[in-house]
Amino acid sequence: MNYPDKILSKVMKPARYTGGEWNSVRKDWDTTKVHMVLSYPDVYEIGTSNMAVGLLYETLNNQKEIGCERVFMPWLDLIQQLKEHNLPLVSLENGRPLKDFDVVGISIGYELTFTNILTILDLGGIPVKASERTDSDPLVIGGGSSCYNPEPVVDFFDMFVIGESEDLLPSLYESLMKHKNKGKLDKKAFLKEVSVLPGVYIPSMYQAKYHDGEFDGFDIIGNAQPKVRRQIAKDLPFAAVRPIMPYIEAVHDRAGVEISRGCTRGCRFCNAGIIYRPVRERPIDEVMEAVRACIRNTGYDEVSLVSLSSGDYSRIDELLERIHSEFGDSLTVSLPSLRLDEHSLELLESLSTSRKSGLTFAPEAGTEHMQRIINKFITRDELLSTSELAFSKGWTGLKLYFMIGLPGEEMEDVQGIVDLVKAVQKTGNRRRIQIRIGLANFVPKPHTAFQWAGQHTSEVLTEKHFLLKSQFSKMNVKLNWTDTNISVMEAALSRGDRRLCNVIYLAWKNGAVLDTWDECFNFQIWKNAFEECGLDLYKYAQQERTTDMALPWEHLDMGISKDYLIKELNRSLAGELTKDCRHGCNGCGLTSNECPVLSGKGF
Ligand code: SF4
Repeated sequence: MNYPDKILSKVMKPARYTGGEWNSVRKDWDTTKVHMVLSYPDVYEIGTSNMAVGLLYETLNNQKEIGCERVFMPWLDLIQQLKEHNLPLVSLENGRPLKDFDVVGISIGYELTFTNILTILDLGGIPVKASERTDSDPLVIGGGSSCYNPEPVVDFFDMFVIGESEDLLPSLYESLMKHKNKGKLDKKAFLKEVSVLPGVYIPSMYQAKYHDGEFDGFDIIGNAQPKVRRQIAKDLPFAAVRPIMPYIEAVHDRAGVEISRGCTRGCRFCNAGIIYRPVRERPIDEVMEAVRACIRNTGYDEVSLVSLSSGDYSRIDELLERIHSEFGDSLTVSLPSLRLDEHSLELLESLSTSRKSGLTFAPEAGTEHMQRIINKFITRDELLSTSELAFSKGWTGLKLYFMIGLPGEEMEDVQGIVDLVKAVQKTGNRRRIQIRIGLANFVPKPHTAFQWAGQHTSEVLTEKHFLLKSQFSKMNVKLNWTDTNISVMEAALSRGDRRLCNVIYLAWKNGAVLDTWDECFNFQIWKNAFEECGLDLYKYAQQERTTDMALPWEHLDMGISKDYLIKELNRSLAGELTKDCRHGCNGCGLTSNECPVLSGKGF
């Protein structure tokens, strides 16, 4: 048991902290050479469902000499108990305090989990600031989709891995062993050695400059790389086939097999479409093998075929047929991230004869004007004929995701969302159908064509929310929206420079914790922290940046050229669509070595 009964009996969900799940790996501590602990800085139910953490856990534990364990963000009740009893946060496998490990690896997927990172380190007995850690403390490494602008958290990490780490792991491991002596890692020597490896970012080797209050680039220290190039695995790494089976309900309670990575559609607001380029598909036989192994190793009766756009997998029909002919109705297949079109509906029809309760799609915009701006185009006729077909075939619910506050959006575009949903509702032809809307506020994301755009002010967003709330309530349509304060924070932290490390530290000291949870998020703490640091929260979120301004993330090279992003921004302003690059390269900047479409190899 990792914590004594007197602690576990006082927390709401003890199974979050007990470990011992099916497929978890517990190696003998004393005979294992390198001790790593991986974390996704949110609660167990979310972290354990994270595929990147699962894949890395399995990959690392396949190495005989590495023992890889897990730790997630404790809920408030455990935090309080640990503090009261002066106990450390420990790993799920061997129950060791985090300070005992050689490496703490943190996968960051969302900016509002930043303060959780500090809580995890602190409770684990590790000084939160890298500058205060010694060779007796673990090396803290960051990775994941929110590390493409890691500047707001650089003070808390020794290094970051930018991109896909699979090809880098052997070199990192070799250096780690070389510089580990009598149980201690000579961090300085290790970091110096790995600083030249592609994809390795050591923030202490970059000195930020500011001019007139604006970020103004970096001075490079020593032989650090002026640009750190994102690492791209040529082929998809093996699929994780031993997912951990949680004892409590997790957000994804099913097997997941990644069928492809990357997306060729080119939505201009989407950073996943940039940072996971190019598209790489897993060969169909490999997918089948992974599905078989997952089912064998877990007993799950549901598998999700994971991709940014599952319907784009070039042999999707054949794949579904093969799964069905092998497993019949004993296995439910789910396809996340489908486009709202008739082909998607055909795919879903082929999957399901009984469960036709809900369909989920993300049109994002309600008018052609906005569809052209964001480069996500589907004609109104096609959209309506798809919903009509869906309802006529027995689907009873539809969830649609929209985004508001996008660059160039006018009030009539927001009204356009209402009009579109009304038209969709009509295609139900008086059947009992339920439409739900998920509404996100636009957050300008680094490395996208919209990285220079400012977020709309809270007043403007609130006005748009008001219009949608009042209209949808009359239409019996359920609406969920994101609080504007959360979106302001997300934008500020997404676009921030390293001055925000002080803000995050201060906010954390003053009690910011579990900010992704509505019941915990305290906007006032954040506002105060910005003020105390003499920084303008709203400017970070809302400033319209010009294309000649230095951006805090430009030294991290995604392989996508700035010229391409500017071209996309200009095409957006002109309402011009950019074609799906699966059908012809748009010259985003990747090389033919990196992109299978460009090299002519195809998928
Ligand atoms: S190089 Fe061309 S085909 Fe490849 S991802 Fe970029 S735009 Fe698409």
